[in-house]
Amino acid sequence: MKPNIVLYRKIPDDLFARLQEQCQVTFFDGINADNRAAFIEALAEAEGVIGTGVKFTDELMAAAPKLKAASTITVGYDDFDVAKLSERGVALMHTPGVLTETTADTIFTLVLCAARRITELAEKVKNGEWQSSIGPDWYGSNVHGKTIGILGMGRIGYAVAKRAHFGFDMNVIYYNRSAKPEAEQQLNARRCSLDEVLKEADFVCNVLPLTPETHHIINRDTLAKMNPSAFFINGGRGASVDEAALVEALKSGGIQGAGLDVFEKEPLPVNSELLTLPNVVALPHIGSATHETRYAMSKLAVENLLAALNGDRSKNCVNPSVTQ
Ligand code: NAP
Repeated sequence: MKPNIVLYRKIPDDLFARLQEQCQVTFFDGINADNRAAFIEALAEAEGVIGTGVKFTDELMAAAPKLKAASTITVGYDDFDVAKLSERGVALMHTPGVLTETTADTIFTLVLCAARRITELAEKVKNGEWQSSIGPDWYGSNVHGKTIGILGMGRIGYAVAKRAHFGFDMNVIYYNRSAKPEAEQQLNARRCSLDEVLKEADFVCNVLPLTPETHHIINRDTLAKMNPSAFFINGGRGASVDEAALVEALKSGGIQGAGLDVFEKEPLPVNSELLTLPNVVALPHIGSATHETRYAMSKLAVENLLAALNGDRSKNCVNPSVTQ
């Protein structure tokens, strides 16, 4: 008998077909208020789930008593409570590696856009405000040769630091719970305390996973340690930042600007004060959003789910030692 699985995000047709060859698939094109009850009902028989964009609360976990494997089409797995999945012997699979370079491209784009005021000034041109040769009020800040501070020197942090070091001749410092010898040797990166990174970096760039320890790690106190000329870039998760404190720092000149791909609430509410600030570049969570990379992520997530349902947790498993 084919295992029942629930797919809760649209994936390319060939990958859907691959799932259907081996599983009985119940498909939802995203979960919303209209189909949430049907989703919960489908979970009752599910041995596997695959998708992204749904927080697996206690309610959803309780609705899925037969679950053996969850495969998220993301590298970050903060939608799941790993300890609770492990207690129940449910394997949690994710997609590290395939999105690293694409996400680093996005994050470095934010560095450049924030420093050179790209979106703000491009908008002025479109609005017909470019009427004479520009003056200092439209100048930006240099990126090359400055100091970038990476919070979370993991796969993506390293890829951002690589761009900074080789492409822009930047000085790299980082905050990470363990030392990263490769970054130190290859990129001349220096490991610092969080306070040191905040004080020294011209660009503080967050790529930490969201965990209880990193929730609101950027807050009023940590922002106050940053230089008024510095920029804050977030390519990790929105909830690592206390957004109200960030707005305050941006409005009061505590920091110079921000480039944000992720937000505490997504989609970012249209009445968010962040959207009223000229020194904010806001993107709709596009870190990994290229055709090639999103395909690679879906493919890997499908392979991960099929492997886990067959008892193989040797690759891309967050909790490989759990057994059912
Ligand atoms: P990763 O390779 O696991 O890197 C995470 C790094 O953070 C590791 O070096 C880890 O240190 C460090 N770390 C974790 N908790 C820490 C703590 N409390 N204090 C200090 N350092 C800590 O993950 P990745 O592939 O680079 O992805 C990082 C995150 O980026 C994901 O979790 C996700 O939230 C986010 N992301 C965002 C997008 C987007 O669209 N914007 C796309 C992809 C990923 P150790 O090595 O010592 O464990």
